[in-house]
Amino acid sequence: MLSGVGVLTATLGGMLLMSQVLPRFGVTSPPEERWFVIGFSVIVGILLAALSGIFVYGILRLRVVRRLDSVIRAFRIVEEGDLLRRMETPGDDEFTDVARAFNGLMDRVVELTASALRSDLMVTWAQRELRLKEEVLAKSNQLADLNAQLVQRVQVASTLLDVADAVSGGPNLDAILKAVGGTLVRSMNLVDFRLLVPGDDASRLVLRHAEGLLPGVPSVALDGPLAACLASGHPLSIPDLRNQETASPVVLHAGAVTGSLVAVPFMTRKAPGGVIVAVRAATNAFGEPDIDFLQLVAGYVGLAVTNSLLHRETLKLANEDQLTGLLNRRRFMELFQGAWDQSTESGEALAVLMIDVDWFKKFNDVHGHLVGDEVLRRIATAIRSQLRPRDVAGRFGGEEFIIAAPGTTRDMGCMLGERIRMAVDEARFDGGEGTAPPLRLTVSVGVSMRDPRMLSPADVVREADRCLYLAKARGRNQVHPSLQGGSGLTPIPRRPPRPVPED
Ligand code: GH3
Ligand code: MG
Ligand code: MG
Repeated sequence: MLSGVGVLTATLGGMLLMSQVLPRFGVTSPPEERWFVIGFSVIVGILLAALSGIFVYGILRLRVVRRLDSVIRAFRIVEEGDLLRRMETPGDDEFTDVARAFNGLMDRVVELTASALRSDLMVTWAQRELRLKEEVLAKSNQLADLNAQLVQRVQVASTLLDVADAVSGGPNLDAILKAVGGTLVRSMNLVDFRLLVPGDDASRLVLRHAEGLLPGVPSVALDGPLAACLASGHPLSIPDLRNQETASPVVLHAGAVTGSLVAVPFMTRKAPGGVIVAVRAATNAFGEPDIDFLQLVAGYVGLAVTNSLLHRETLKLANEDQLTGLLNRRRFMELFQGAWDQSTESGEALAVLMIDVDWFKKFNDVHGHLVGDEVLRRIATAIRSQLRPRDVAGRFGGEEFIIAAPGTTRDMGCMLGERIRMAVDEARFDGGEGTAPPLRLTVSVGVSMRDPRMLSPADVVREADRCLYLAKARGRNQVHPSLQGGSGLTPIPRRPPRPVPED
């Protein structure tokens, strides 16, 4: 445009010079010169246009393009990620305004980016915190579960310990069952615990112990699921007693009970020994762990019952005469010592009867010892049938029996001896194959009374033995009382009271 203006100005200037200015000053020129001047003016115009173009370009390059470049460069650098790039602001022109605006813009971008980063970071932290919290919650739930399991196990262990403690507490089965039942009712939250054992009649289970609130029934029929439970050794679980008619009599009076029940069998000496029965008030109240636990307890109860049976058998062996079932001599003397002490304390009469079978050696010789044994058993039964609850009887020797009868006068002692003598005299014994008629035997009886001059139980026994000898001497099959010790009606003087010890 500038060139055009230059060419136009020079041309118009040349034409003006030629046509208007020069003629005024009298300068005229021929037409070919005019064309020269116009041409010259055009060339000068073009030159001027070129020069002004170069000048303008230089000015533009200096003032605009370089600054524009620096703006573009700044944008590129920012584009590459350097948000901290800022432009110089040297002057007060538009480019400086642009640079300031750029710098302001970048400050804002940096600020926004930073806050975005901060928000991102916070979101990340919040997410991580949430994750951690969830993990902690999961762990603490696991811990709570573990803790609950541990508490339960400790409870189970401690109950088992109590049960084991009770079982090892001694041979008293009633005390053991009371302790075990009490522990279970408390720790397992039972309304009832009971123990049933097979009765003499094998078709029934007999109530041996009950601990709890429910009314007890003395025995239940051993049939249905209960029989299967005892025979198989597997627990019987009744989650809802209302739906069970077969096994509910174990604990209830005709449907009076609701709730749930578990019956667990136990063994005694490798044979079914009975069942323990646990009842809870709620239905479906027994889970697998409860049943497992009750099986452990049943094992202990079986042990206790076995121990008690063994203890009873051991006592029997230690104290009883095997052939007759009466007390053996050692045990008799122990109990007799007790009766003696009591009589010393109370002044009560004390009679002793010594009984011996007449001509028994001969009887054995004729009929054999086995028949003799049976006779001894029958005589022991006859003796037992004549005793009062406080009397004690034992087998003193081969075919000799002894009775201690507290609170018995001589007359009463003689009557007792006479009843036994008659019972034997009237009895008929079977002599085995080929013996007819039945055999007969007699006994002689010596009766002695405790005398104040006697020093020990052995003195009364000795006197009874002496009387027995007299009965034999007088013809046998009779009762001979001692004349010592009075009638027994006169009380034996009490011991003088113990002197009060001096301080
Ligand atoms: P008596 O007492 O009348 O003077 O005569 P006896 O024949 O009974 O007297 P003795 O004391 O001599 O005999 C006791 C007999 O008792 C000897 C023994 O064969 C018998 N005897 C002892 N213990 C047992 C036993 O456990 N079983 C059997 N069958 N006999 C026994
Ligand atoms: Mg004899
Ligand atoms: Mg004898």
